[in-house]
Amino acid sequence: MEIMRADIRSELLARRQKLEKFSTTHHEASHLAHLPDEVEDALKRIDSGSYGPCEICHDPIEKDRLAADPLLRYCLDHLTRRQRDALQQDLELASRVQMALLSQRSPSFHGWDVAYSHLPLGPVSGDYCNLVMQGEHPRDLHFLLGDVAGKGLF
Ligand SMILES: [Zn+2]
Repeated sequence: MEIMRADIRSELLARRQKLEKFSTTHHEASHLAHLPDEVEDALKRIDSGSYGPCEICHDPIEKDRLAADPLLRYCLDHLTRRQRDALQQDLELASRVQMALLSQRSPSFHGWDVAYSHLPLGPVSGDYCNLVMQGEHPRDLHFLLGDVAGKGLF
């Protein structure tokens, strides 16, 4: 947990630096004006040891979500209806994008029928597989398989 806090702290410091640089060149970005305060607040919570738990139920916020967005203050159980709907839409979109990235399911190759099955555990998974043939008359067929450790999207 301490290593994670150190990582998040350095991520927050990097974000603070980027925000300071951005605000000096993009004065029109008023919708981002709250971010420096949120970053400062998260840094204070890390330094005081109160960073990590959900502010409503005090259970730990999911580590993977915090790694993706260190400004989170609530666990998945305590998202607002709007945040939950937005997350659901993002997952559905990510699922459609992932499925579209997979290659043709059953290509034939020099008389061989090739097939694979991709069944993500959730709506989106980190797993990826691909069949690669190059050119109009390919000589080789490559089967690629990646990230099968089951970590999923977060
Ligand atoms: Zn909670």
